[in-house]
Amino acid sequence: MQAIVSPFNSMPSSRYIVTPESLIRQEILALNAYHVPPAIGMVKLDAMENPYLLPPQLRCEIAQLVAEAEINRYPDAGAHHLKAEIRKITSLPAGMEILLGNGSDEIIQLLALAVAKPEAVLLSVEPSFVMYKMIAAFVGMKYVGVPLAEDFSLDLQATLNAIKLENPALVFLAYPNNPTGNLFDADAIKQIIEATPGLVVVDEAYYAFASDSFIPYLSDYKNLLVMRTFSKLGMAGLRMGFLAGAKAWLEQLEKLRLPYNVGVLPQLVAAQLLEYHDVLLDQAESIKQERTKLLAKLKTHDGVRAYPSEANFILFSVKKATLVFEGLKQRGVLIKNLNGGHPMLKDCLRVTVGTANENQKFITALQETIIQLAS
Ligand SMILES: *Cc1c(COP(=O)(O)O)cnc(C)c1O
Repeated sequence: MQAIVSPFNSMPSSRYIVTPESLIRQEILALNAYHVPPAIGMVKLDAMENPYLLPPQLRCEIAQLVAEAEINRYPDAGAHHLKAEIRKITSLPAGMEILLGNGSDEIIQLLALAVAKPEAVLLSVEPSFVMYKMIAAFVGMKYVGVPLAEDFSLDLQATLNAIKLENPALVFLAYPNNPTGNLFDADAIKQIIEATPGLVVVDEAYYAFASDSFIPYLSDYKNLLVMRTFSKLGMAGLRMGFLAGAKAWLEQLEKLRLPYNVGVLPQLVAAQLLEYHDVLLDQAESIKQERTKLLAKLKTHDGVRAYPSEANFILFSVKKATLVFEGLKQRGVLIKNLNGGHPMLKDCLRVTVGTANENQKFITALQETIIQLAS
């Protein structure tokens, strides 16, 4: 018998020799961990964060709240105060409830866990947010990704065909889509909702930068839920997402939510920040103006193709994309390299819209890199 080399061999042993490979599910062993690159000292334009600081007055209020917080106590499991603040800034149709997540990533996981019967299918479009596919693997669901049309719009016929064939329990549509930045056609989404035998979740992570929302339609469709996050609006570090929809769905999902998934400090701070939602929306407005300028600048580059965006980032393609990405990094600017991922994203990079100053640093670094690579 072959000796099994394992770090566990020297431990007091049980009768069985267990290794990660022998114990952990095959679909988990096959995954690549979600990669977060180091960004210390960089102009950080890779993760769709809000680049602006909070007004000093608000920071003082937060400091006071944190100083007085009872962190020796478990958080309010129902997060009543925070939910009331969310309701103030979100026009939910009558009767709709809210479920909170430790970021909306956690809500995706909760939804998948709830419906993960053997053979159950999670369907999305591609390219889109990679966590849909990853979380399907986490919970052992079958994942189906329907390719978008070449211009990144929904391929409605292909999507409807796939829904008929696969009977998905769960469909995710990011609206606007990440990483392409566009809003899908609302009528096409409605047809998808009507054709889906399971739940359709419209993921509005970028609602603050977009011109449309599905929240008003929540009462029209029994199988529709809308998910949002405050990460892109300036609270990425707090981890705060929510799901809105009918009580019948949310009361089932609540059973799966770990009771203290949102801590005392995130609840307090997010509720306070939402009192200043208009300040955050003003920042989003500045980002939208910067987005327009950045898109115009990208379009003046020969060899760069930039796509229109309703989010706080811009997708663009450029020759030798990975070398361009590396060149930017050497110049202290971190963006996201999508080249080598999905085939439709060949030569594509994604830049988050930053402050005017950050965007200028990015454009300058891009110019220098392209010139260097051409010579
Ligand atoms: C960023 C993002 C999320 C997740 O955000 P959280 O920080 O986990 O709340 C969800 N969906 C899309 C499309 C995103 O881009």
